[in-house]
Amino acid sequence: MGDHLQGSWINLVLLGLLITFFGVQQRNRPQLYFRFWFAGWLLIFLSFISNELKFADPKASLLNELFRLDTVFLGGAAFVISFVVKGGKVLKPLLLGIAVTVPGCLVIDLNAIGHTSYWLLCLLIVIGQASSLLVNLYLPMRWRRVRSLGIALCIVFCAATLHVAKDSASLHEWIMCEIFLYAGLLYAGTYRRLSIEWMAGTIGFIAWSGSYLLIAPLKVHPTALALLWQFWSLPKYVVSFAMTLRIFDGARADIAKLADGYKLLYEDFRLLYENHPLPMWIYDKDSLRFLSVNSAACSGYGFTKEQFLDKTVSDLVVEEDTDGSEEILTNSLRQHLQYGRHRLSDGRVISVEMTEREIQFANRSAGFVLAIDVTEREELNRKLVYRAQHDVLTGLPNRLLLEDRLAQSLERANRDNTHVALFTVDVDRFKLVNDTFGHGVGDECLKKIAKRLSGRVRKADTIARTGGEEFTIIVGGVVDPDDVEVMAENLLRLFDAPLCIPGQELKVSISIGVSLYPADAVDADNLRIKSDQALFYAKRNGRNRFAIASEEVCASFNDALAAERAVRNALRDDGFELHYQPIYDREGVASRFEALLRMKPSCPEVLPPAMFIPIAEESGLILAIGSWVIRQVCAQLVAWRDVADTRVCVAINVSARQLAQKEFAARILEILREHDLSPSSIEFELTETALMSEPELIKDSMAKLASAGIQFAIDDFGTGYSSLARLADLPIATLKIDRSFVVQLNRTNRRNGIVTSIIQMAETMGVSVVAEGVEDEIQLSLLRGRGCDYFQGYYLSKPMQVETLTNAFEEQSQLLLRHPNFDAQDTSRSHCGREPLLINPE
Ligand code: C2E
Ligand code: CA
Ligand code: CA
Repeated sequence: MGDHLQGSWINLVLLGLLITFFGVQQRNRPQLYFRFWFAGWLLIFLSFISNELKFADPKASLLNELFRLDTVFLGGAAFVISFVVKGGKVLKPLLLGIAVTVPGCLVIDLNAIGHTSYWLLCLLIVIGQASSLLVNLYLPMRWRRVRSLGIALCIVFCAATLHVAKDSASLHEWIMCEIFLYAGLLYAGTYRRLSIEWMAGTIGFIAWSGSYLLIAPLKVHPTALALLWQFWSLPKYVVSFAMTLRIFDGARADIAKLADGYKLLYEDFRLLYENHPLPMWIYDKDSLRFLSVNSAACSGYGFTKEQFLDKTVSDLVVEEDTDGSEEILTNSLRQHLQYGRHRLSDGRVISVEMTEREIQFANRSAGFVLAIDVTEREELNRKLVYRAQHDVLTGLPNRLLLEDRLAQSLERANRDNTHVALFTVDVDRFKLVNDTFGHGVGDECLKKIAKRLSGRVRKADTIARTGGEEFTIIVGGVVDPDDVEVMAENLLRLFDAPLCIPGQELKVSISIGVSLYPADAVDADNLRIKSDQALFYAKRNGRNRFAIASEEVCASFNDALAAERAVRNALRDDGFELHYQPIYDREGVASRFEALLRMKPSCPEVLPPAMFIPIAEESGLILAIGSWVIRQVCAQLVAWRDVADTRVCVAINVSARQLAQKEFAARILEILREHDLSPSSIEFELTETALMSEPELIKDSMAKLASAGIQFAIDDFGTGYSSLARLADLPIATLKIDRSFVVQLNRTNRRNGIVTSIIQMAETMGVSVVAEGVEDEIQLSLLRGRGCDYFQGYYLSKPMQVETLTNAFEEQSQLLLRHPNFDAQDTSRSHCGREPLLINPE
């Protein structure tokens, strides 16, 4: 049939252009059917080329003919498959394509060669048509009508081709006709609306298919055929026209879809921006002018949109911050986190955290900002930091902040070549205030003290509360180290006047330890240690004074450590002994003896009680020592009972710590029972100060012991804060007037009045009075004249060793232990206390 086909170069050029067009299109479009169309046209183009080729050699000519026919058939098949591929799945359609085209091509080729085995042709035809039926089944359900038509087409053409296969002349025309008709049918199946494109595609394919039947099998009249030849290529171009239209249509639909998508997206973003609860804005990077703001920004800042657009970003910033806000670069995406303070329309200032992105807006470089009001968070943060660094009661910095400031001060001093003074201030006997007046007054007191101290401290310096009643002051920039003494003196003098607490005036004093950087230490830790040592020294030396760190202070501190060691050793190595000092009544009879603790002279280091008792108290060793004293006294009483054959009473000094022990009373009574001693053979002395600590526990112990018959004396009376009401509440038999009052007694001193009033008070309370530290005759006679009941002091007798006293007992066992210095006639005042204790009464 090649000779019928009038190929021309115009056809080739047009097809070439068409292929180029499809080639370009299929590269830009993802749809798979374009690719198949492109493949189809490429095959058609190849068949055209082969149609133009003429070979003299019959074999080459035959091969060329086979190539031409196969490429046309394959081209048609590519169009058919193009309608079946959907959604990118290509494997199944491709396999179907092969199932259809391989038998098809074989039939065409065998027929062209002139193969005459009818049955082989039939077999191939049946296989090919069966595959085509499968293609029908693969069509989507909604193409039901197309499918039925397709099946009918297969059956009709199967019959037709089987029929013409006998006379093989026009077999391939029937096959070509079928494949293009099929393509037309499928093209018609893509119907959406009646369009030129659809009609052109459907009619084009049908005409294309029809052209094969017109040319050969229907044997048209030669004149009509000549006419038809002129239009032979026309259907192809109609099809290509339709396909081109469809491609443009698709592109237009895609663009419309895309535009719709953008519109939705834009709307989404606009809603998000406009209704976002956090303020957002866009501003020009160059002029800083606002370009757009959302509603939250307007409501949050109190400006209208118009007002905003009239402003620049810096108009929001609080004036004093305009030199730049804190900026943190958070990542490489040019996203910044900024902190700043903004002023609202009503003048309020808020803290904001802003996240900024650089964007392009209306063709310029802009900043897109999301602002979060963090005022509350910052405030909370500030409060937390403040609380972590400050003392709740006084509002002063605490140790944490002090350490920070100290480090800074040392650094600065190092740079400036100046000194730093570290003052450790401790309120003297503050526990007493707390115990006497309660913690409410104690706290009030501390606040007042803090206020007085802070008033003296320069702004640049730091005062911190570093302990219950301890304050630390850092004074930097000290040029002359000698100034420190003046400063300490000034601090001490702050407490010359009493503190005014609601309800009362309280006299307090402080002790101060001072260390200097860099003279005493070059680091904060050691500076603090040196300051503490100096404080310890000041306290040890009588309180209400200051001490400056020095070799001597350091040595004294070390001495204290050594002293504690010495006390510990004495306790362990039986290094203690007791001395006994008699207490005389108005007749000069030694009514009882006070047991006083001493370190044995054999100890490696002998300390006086005034030194080791406080150390024992501080270290807690007093409990063990106290027990030892009590057992020792009891043992002694038993021993004396044997030699003196009489009742002797011993006064034992007890510390608050002992009395505060829950089982103290029971243990004492147990010891007395063990030694078979009556409770009246001992009495306890405790100081006013001791009475005030742990008042409940002590009161409890005292009540138990008193009900068992043990008497109590208040030692050092007049030196503490004890109230009469409180004393009246306790089982007290005796007041011991402190030595400091007795020492002052002389015939002209006006302060004699204190002693007189104590004695009068005791009388009204029904308790007896002992005067301690009677050192001369004048004191004795003045005391007796004022009605004092008992007397104790060096003038009468010093504390005696056990042997001395035992000897006295043995020698004078038949006599009263009566003192010669007493004037026996003076017995004017009746005794309120116990009866005078007589040794072997006559
Ligand atoms: P204190 O209870 O006030 O004891 C009286 C102190 O005054 C004793 O000092 C005594 O030797 C001294 N003294 C007596 N008469 C005179 C005098 O006329 N002039 C002078 N200047 N002093 C006189 P000592 O023995 O040094 O005791 C000091 C303190 O040690 C005692 O004061 C007492 O508080 C405490 N102490 C002594 N022994 C014990 C003890 O066994 N247990 C407890 N807890 N404390 C004790
Ligand atoms: Ca005493
Ligand atoms: Ca005393």
